[in-house]
Amino acid sequence: MKIDVLTLFPEMFVALDSSLIGKAKEKGLFELNCHNIRDYSQDKHKKCDDTPFGGGAGMVMTPQPIHDCIKAVDENHSSFRIYMSPRGKRLDQNIVKKLSEYDRLMILCGHYEGVDQRVLDMDIDMELSIGDYVLSGGEIPAMAVIDSVLRYIPDVLGNSESTVDESFSNGLLEYPQYTRPQTFCGLSVPDVLISGNHKNISKWRQEKSIEITKANRPDLLEDK
Ligand code: SAM
Repeated sequence: MKIDVLTLFPEMFVALDSSLIGKAKEKGLFELNCHNIRDYSQDKHKKCDDTPFGGGAGMVMTPQPIHDCIKAVDENHSSFRIYMSPRGKRLDQNIVKKLSEYDRLMILCGHYEGVDQRVLDMDIDMELSIGDYVLSGGEIPAMAVIDSVLRYIPDVLGNSESTVDESFSNGLLEYPQYTRPQTFCGLSVPDVLISGNHKNISKWRQEKSIEITKANRPDLLEDK
């Protein structure tokens, strides 16, 4: 998979050089290119924002540098183009899976009050939100999308089972996990997990999954 990110702050993406995603990048399992929108500004001071027509607080990202950057990066529109935005469709595991099926993604990160609508109308396929709250820029949301999508790319996860048996994979949240030591601060691992009885372990995990989902995300059970 190839991912192009359009941002005013490409340096933020060093966060993806660590851990699992960093290792996958080193192995060449995907390609990530960050493009600085400012490099495409035709303004003599490389300005990329201006005041909103109609008034209001803050600044809006101007269309010219973004449109030119998109044309340079994805001339033939071979990428699926996403704009990170709190008013977008809310990201969930189904969307993550669908995005992982594209060969190329392009992700536009907004800043300030957002992006001039015309560039969205002309150039963007989907507006995507990571949740019902507002961040100061699209970079952290873009990294959330990239990390979650890449987990579906073959060999990115050490154990290919990992996306199968985790929260949301079966419409439920994950059961509690335990590891060594068997007793920690006087708290013991549930007996069933050391019983060796896989049928009972499976049953216990399913029950716990339902219990946790009921408590934290009853809406997921309604969807089932
Ligand atoms: N004025 C915008 C609004 O009310 O919808 C919010 C702009 S926000 C301060 C600046 C940028 O951060 C947005 O253009 C978007 O790229 C990004 N952003 C903020 N919250 C986000 C979220 N929940 N999901 C995705 N992107 C978000």
